[in-house]
Amino acid sequence: MSISHEIETFRGWIDEAPAKSIVFFGGAGVSTASGIPDFRSSEGVFTKYAHLSPERLVSASYFHEQPEGFYDFYRTSLVFADAEPNTAHFKLAELEREGKLTAIITQNIDGLHQKAGSSYVLELHGNMHRNYCQKCYRTYDLDFIVNSEGIPYCVDCGGIVRPDVVLYEEALEEAVLQRSAVAIAQASILIIGGTSLVVFPAAALTSYFKGDHLVIINQTPTPQDSSADLCLKEDIAEVFSW
Ligand code: ZN
Repeated sequence: MSISHEIETFRGWIDEAPAKSIVFFGGAGVSTASGIPDFRSSEGVFTKYAHLSPERLVSASYFHEQPEGFYDFYRTSLVFADAEPNTAHFKLAELEREGKLTAIITQNIDGLHQKAGSSYVLELHGNMHRNYCQKCYRTYDLDFIVNSEGIPYCVDCGGIVRPDVVLYEEALEEAVLQRSAVAIAQASILIIGGTSLVVFPAAALTSYFKGDHLVIINQTPTPQDSSADLCLKEDIAEVFSW
């Protein structure tokens, strides 16, 4: 299969990138090739909750008011415990090992970058593999959530266990935001992949970039396409398989 001139240019930049030059910022599209759909697209599919928006179903208020409904949706539409990293995750991990990539900033909560071997991952929205009791803070893994029915209760104190993820209506962790801004400000190549750049804080964070090459890899247009040096409307897992 022949690849486009744009993909060739991109791969050339990455192959020739100096040490500590690359930062990756990614969203849901990075994990779709791993079989994890963007939960916003599950609207209508999940007819039981069709009257509620996906954003409402993963909001803090819904979690507190209807934890059973929250977990029903969460387990069905957000948790894919058997998902494996794809070529994009693996290539990014390789670039970190080579010393070229300094940080991955992700909006995903699936932990697939770490599973692929990446170590410096800034998780804007937390990680579903970490869970904790709201009362006593005992921690639980994802298996505990997957294998419990209805509301998962703490085996020590009976408190409700919640995922260590940022729900809608909740604030992002300030320290993670700051580290993300610093990483982007110091990068000479910023790759934005699998995100339409409409969800806060994506747009705000990318404004810190002052480097040479801004690359956007997304199948649909983003508000920042015009400021990108390279815009690849391709499947990110394809772009990263070389
Ligand atoms: Zn507890």
